[in-house]
Amino acid sequence: MIWNDRPAEPRNWPIADAMASDPAVDATWLAPDRTDYPAMRILITAAQIQKRLSEMAAVLAPAYRDRPLTIVGVLTGSVMFLADLVRRLDMPLRIGLIQASSYRGETTTSGELYVSPGLMPDVRDRHVLLLDDILDTGQTLKRLVQDLRDQGALSVKVCVLLQKKGRQIHHVEVELVGFEIPDEFVVGYGLDYNDEYRQLPYIAVLPAI
Ligand code: 5GP
Ligand code: MG
Repeated sequence: MIWNDRPAEPRNWPIADAMASDPAVDATWLAPDRTDYPAMRILITAAQIQKRLSEMAAVLAPAYRDRPLTIVGVLTGSVMFLADLVRRLDMPLRIGLIQASSYRGETTTSGELYVSPGLMPDVRDRHVLLLDDILDTGQTLKRLVQDLRDQGALSVKVCVLLQKKGRQIHHVEVELVGFEIPDEFVVGYGLDYNDEYRQLPYIAVLPAI
């Protein structure tokens, strides 16, 4: 049962038109009833993301073939990226998840980093591919790479969907980047604003509210 307790208002879903012409987007994914999302500028379409993931998988698969691989996703932002990428890797692998949070609310300034110890996967004698949604200052990934090495991983390599230009302060060696983006606050495809917008199948810039 779908709740429909919102009063009918004129449709205000500017991204719908952009998505309707995007072949990777099933029209049923659109939510034409939503009138409370601000207009967003799509930076990377769903089709562009899906195409790039295939290219990335083609690079990663031969590099890890015949190696004991654990793909570790950083919660919560990497869930879409992880789910779509692993389905393109036709080889034995394990999936682990790590919870790390440094960003709170509306600012991209990295605050204190909290890593949830309970979730840390067992990576001893495993090659680890660490996946995150976005490389910003590098604080999160630098810390997680060190933690995974300390846990006994055979190797730890980093793959991010997005890398923000001109923002890196902490040095992190990144093996593979999906897209370089300008220094703008983006949402969608796992990335949130106040924990919302993660389900959008594209990457968009949220207008200043
Ligand atoms: P870093 O530790 O590299 O500074 O920050 C990485 C984390 O900050 C990302 O995993 C993400 O959660 C958050 N972050 C950085 N830039 C953005 C952005 O433009 N949009 C969103 N939604 N999150 C961001
Ligand atoms: Mg994150």
